[in-house]
Amino acid sequence: MINMDVFHGFLEAIRHLPEMAQPTAMTDAERVAKAKSVMRAKTDRSLALDLEACVNCGYCSESCHFFQSTQDAKYSPSRKLDLLRRVHARETSAFAPIKRLFVSDITVNDLKEWQELVYDSCTECGRCSMICPMGINTARGVNVMREALYEAGLAPLELTAVAQEQAGRGTVFGVGPEQLQQTVDLLRGQGIAIPLNEPRADVMLVTTVIDVLLYQDALAATARILNHLGVNWTLRSKGFEAANFGLLAGSESLQKAATQRIVDEALAIGAKTVIVPECGHAYPALRWDGRLSDGQSLPFEVLATAEYVGREVSAGRLHLTPGDATRKITYHDACKLARHGGVMKEPRAALAALGMDVRETSPTAEKNWCCGGGAGAFLINRAEGLRHKAWEIKREQIDATGADTVVVSCGSCRLNFMAGAEKVQWETKIESVVELVAAQLPSK
Ligand code: SF4
Ligand code: SF4
Repeated sequence: MINMDVFHGFLEAIRHLPEMAQPTAMTDAERVAKAKSVMRAKTDRSLALDLEACVNCGYCSESCHFFQSTQDAKYSPSRKLDLLRRVHARETSAFAPIKRLFVSDITVNDLKEWQELVYDSCTECGRCSMICPMGINTARGVNVMREALYEAGLAPLELTAVAQEQAGRGTVFGVGPEQLQQTVDLLRGQGIAIPLNEPRADVMLVTTVIDVLLYQDALAATARILNHLGVNWTLRSKGFEAANFGLLAGSESLQKAATQRIVDEALAIGAKTVIVPECGHAYPALRWDGRLSDGQSLPFEVLATAEYVGREVSAGRLHLTPGDATRKITYHDACKLARHGGVMKEPRAALAALGMDVRETSPTAEKNWCCGGGAGAFLINRAEGLRHKAWEIKREQIDATGADTVVVSCGSCRLNFMAGAEKVQWETKIESVVELVAAQLPSK
């Protein structure tokens, strides 16, 4: 059961984030120089190709929920890379000396204008790349723009505040080992066994601030599933936080530091598997970007909870008691799991085992619409109206299925659905994959 007071308290805390950010003092010239230095350094062959290959066909616009919901040309995916394209043309392209004659240099005002375009109005969902005839990876370019703006001290204050907190105190929204212990004690009091700080374990579960504070049922559900399967697992208080505000804000060094805490703990206990909670961006942060300190690949597998649970169902190791066959449910694919991670079959396998009436949205899976709340957009206060408009596409898509429940596998999506639902008194239930699965575990 979600405590709505905690939900509203979380929304209130977001409103005050800008007051907590420590602004970076820099002259305008220094900001431009820092931003350009990141853009130059990150423009490798593949990004250069993306920047040069755009034929301005405009197909990507129709695929972007921010353009689609506003019809405002400034939200066109290709335009979001224009600043990067200008710096590339003038400084890193083959014809830079000639291009400098007719392509203008970027200014600090350009950087400030692009803050909204690469944070508020791009969730790095990757949908535009699926439509683009040239296969241009706009999300990657946007991520480079975020890194450039962060270095220039021009990331949104909300994301800057949390990234600075995570880098400094190691907490997120004030949640650290002490708060984790309190939540673990609370769940243990409900009779759920939760191993914490075991010295050796095959599986290390990481969780996230939002599960510790708000979606405690998701943490409890994951624990119950792991216990039911007889897995030797643990949480570790020095490396439990999966949310990575370095990635969201655009700081590569902070991203690596946050990932390193998890990697160190997993190595210390000899984990063969690390299970990432229902948190979209936490998955690529560890699975695709996570490395050992010497740059080598991680020596353990990284799975999202929905992926793990679906895999266990498909392998015949996890059997569920069929639920209410008249209940109509639909699944919302989190972009970072489905489009970026290929995790589409597994959540569906888990939902199919529930014995309910599962309905697909149209389009679905890798072509599914983003909910508009990912990549940190949910925390940016001024983006609320834009985010809600984008979410309306999602809501209509779900309503068209006739489902009474939308099932999600990402806490950010869930927050965005809850905020959208509250605004328009949307009656559809919002549930998580692990919670539905845990509710159908057979008694032993
Ligand atoms: S990655 Fe997603 S949000 Fe960003 S421009 Fe492309 S479609 Fe829009
Ligand atoms: S679809 Fe691709 S080629 Fe066409 S405008 Fe968009 S980014 Fe450029």
